[in-house]
Amino acid sequence: MNKPELGIADRQREFFYSRSVRNVEFRLEQLHVLKRIIIDHEARILEALNKDLQKPEAEAYTSEIAPVLHEIDLALKHLRSWSKPERVRTPRILYPGSSAIYREPYGSVLIIAPWNYPFQLAMIPLVGAMAAGNCAVLKPSEISSFTSRAMAEMIGASFDPSYVTVIEGGVDLTHQLLSQHFDCIFFTGSSRIGKIVMEAAAKYLTPVVLELGGKNPCIVDKDVDVEKTARRIVWGKYFNAGQTCLAPDYLLVHKAVKEKLIDAIRLTIERFYGNEPFQSPDYARIINQQHFVRLSALLKEGEIVVGGATDSTARYIAPTVIEKVSWNNNIMSEEIFGPLLPVLDYEDITEVIELLQRKSKPLALYFFSRNKQYQKRILSELSSGGVSINDTMAHIQNVCLPFGGVGESGMGEYHGKASFDVLSHKKAVLKRSFFADPQMKYPPYRTPLKYLKKVLKFLY
Ligand code: NAD
Repeated sequence: MNKPELGIADRQREFFYSRSVRNVEFRLEQLHVLKRIIIDHEARILEALNKDLQKPEAEAYTSEIAPVLHEIDLALKHLRSWSKPERVRTPRILYPGSSAIYREPYGSVLIIAPWNYPFQLAMIPLVGAMAAGNCAVLKPSEISSFTSRAMAEMIGASFDPSYVTVIEGGVDLTHQLLSQHFDCIFFTGSSRIGKIVMEAAAKYLTPVVLELGGKNPCIVDKDVDVEKTARRIVWGKYFNAGQTCLAPDYLLVHKAVKEKLIDAIRLTIERFYGNEPFQSPDYARIINQQHFVRLSALLKEGEIVVGGATDSTARYIAPTVIEKVSWNNNIMSEEIFGPLLPVLDYEDITEVIELLQRKSKPLALYFFSRNKQYQKRILSELSSGGVSINDTMAHIQNVCLPFGGVGESGMGEYHGKASFDVLSHKKAVLKRSFFADPQMKYPPYRTPLKYLKKVLKFLY
């Protein structure tokens, strides 16, 4: 483990002001370096993800490495245009003059990452930080220790730590880092720790981006293609063994299709993972014993209708569907973050909407229905970080869509251009010439109010 580096924020800020970090050419060069080391270390990253979570190779590549490379390519392609000052309209009152928004890097950005997608959730914010012209300190989760080590070694061998560095460690080290004066903090993790981060940031009024969790509802109307719905739900729920911030947390299914849907889910699980998901090379494991014990306790609530098998030594929990749960159960009040899918039913969409309006705003909301009117209602009457209609976890795959939460599921969005924007300060710049300087602006004020009102209306 690296020694806690006290003062790294100040050292990076010094580097930020003394070197060409902000220069676009430098940023492009360094993004090329990052891309190269990721490609060169692909096998090492996949191995680390397998050791941490027994992540299937296909899931590891598609959800951890490919999105990072895609983000780098996008930044390499568009960085020059993103970084150009954005001209905006100048009102007559400021004629002659010009107005523009300058994207200015913050300085030193602290990135704190979780364990469930330990590579992607550390690297995509890093790409955004570097593209925006910042220095960065990356603090991966100590729980996914193999991936943390791999990133520390890769980055350590290729970047000056005053520019970009990985500092490994747990809670104490995170607190030491949080006590320093960073220029921005980008945190991904639970809502509980998000509050600790925000409190620490308040000391220096540091801007924060919080990418948090929550319970993502998945509503299924009666008017659906049951088989495709089941496939898309099973994929989203059991990908990475349910340890995904965007996974559908629970189902709210119209009574008319509930039994049919559960049967289709049972069949789909079998098709995806076989009769013995334990043997499947395509099914991940629970990250550690603590989470295994937590999930095993949730498993006892309600009635298991699919799956339910566990193996403590292997930290295995089968893809499981649970019925007869109530909102008072822990499984319905805390984020599940594992392969357990509670199913509740409903008859009236208005009741569902009213129920969800009383709950915390989730990171994602899923709605399966062909009914356009209902789709419209869901979009306008419920709030969430993002929405996929007739799919799960789909909106994250489009880098043109900003990704983030709202309320308890977070603040600030990233991915693609949004990463660049959220890690830049938008500096308002107005340039004027020495030509024209109407006297009426200055004291002593002699223009009658009646006339002033008319002039101002014209000038703005
Ligand atoms: P976590 O909040 O426990 O940990 C996240 C980071 O905070 C880790 O680096 C950890 O070392 C640090 N940390 C832990 N306890 C701390 C403390 N007391 N003080 C300071 N720092 C501390 O989250 P996790 O268990 O790693 O990840 C799971 C959570 O993250 C879930 O709630 C999930 O929904 C959320 N998540 C959100 C997103 C998103 O994009 N919105 C993505 C992945 C995970």
